[in-house]
Amino acid sequence: MIQLYIPLNFLGVLYREIKQSLTDLDKMFALMEREREIADRPGAQPLAGLEQATVRFEHVNFAYEASRPILHDVSFEIPAGKTVAVVGPSGSGKSTLARLLYRFYDVGIPGHPEVPSGRITIAGQDIRAVTQSSVRQAIGIVPQDTVLFNDTVEYNIGYGRPGSSRAQIEEAARAARIHGFIESTPKGYQTMVGERGLKLSGGEKQRVAIARTLLKDPPILIFDEATSALDSANERAIQAELKSAAQNKTTLLIAHRLSTVVDAHEILVMDAGRILERGSHNELLARGGRYAEMWALQQQSGEAAEPRFEEVMGM
Ligand code: ATP
Repeated sequence: MIQLYIPLNFLGVLYREIKQSLTDLDKMFALMEREREIADRPGAQPLAGLEQATVRFEHVNFAYEASRPILHDVSFEIPAGKTVAVVGPSGSGKSTLARLLYRFYDVGIPGHPEVPSGRITIAGQDIRAVTQSSVRQAIGIVPQDTVLFNDTVEYNIGYGRPGSSRAQIEEAARAARIHGFIESTPKGYQTMVGERGLKLSGGEKQRVAIARTLLKDPPILIFDEATSALDSANERAIQAELKSAAQNKTTLLIAHRLSTVVDAHEILVMDAGRILERGSHNELLARGGRYAEMWALQQQSGEAAEPRFEEVMGM
């Protein structure tokens, strides 16, 4: 019994960690079928109409545990092909929005059917009513901290689209500006990475994740900007790559730095699970609220060492 329990328990812990870091390791999900909390409705059909992949959160309430509501009446729309950025202090619920969109959890407060759950739609379809696999197929995630498989770089990028040719993998790596680095390693694309292989820096790992996502070419993108300080050259390069990856994709950007959000279609300022302010960069500056305050503070501290929102918000 103990022998059976330990691996299952380990898988449970691993699954929760993966969920928390937002990775899309479907391979792991297959192994952990029994851990799934979310099941398809009988007769669920795949998502359709993804050429116009508008994402909508409509009056979403959510709690991981009944006793502690996390999101309160959250509504916003990411029009097809546009980027909506979410900023706010640590713990305000930014990553939770991404986890719900990827359907790691369903909306609502567990055990409280009297609280309206609201809904999340993609191309007008409630994501609870369609197959979970089609939702995940439609979304590419570039997490803050990419977990790499203990395998070759080629495998780690190619995982984005199983069956990809080497040429396609290289093309994605070039677009994510990681090709040069890969070629500089002794075994090139056959270099083993991950815990037991070559250790990559945060920026390199994020580029591998961008290459993987470019290869997957999903209509919807979730980008969780790294909070850890990359050096500023690396930071700018990643932002440029992100911009090209997000072109024409419906993008939810969880941002930690002001320079990333300036061009977003809409910026949501979250606080304690609520949207406190919303608008374009200029609208929010004109409003003179929390965002404008953060912007002013950041201007004072200078561009060279751009602080994170969490820092300028003093939380
Ligand atoms: P950060 O910027 O630090 O990543 P965030 O704004 O993304 O923070 P979330 O990760 O969405 O914040 O967390 C929102 C709240 O939900 C936090 O109070 C957190 O403790 C809680 N929370 C997150 N994951 C879980 C979980 N699996 N179970 C219970 N509570 C959770």
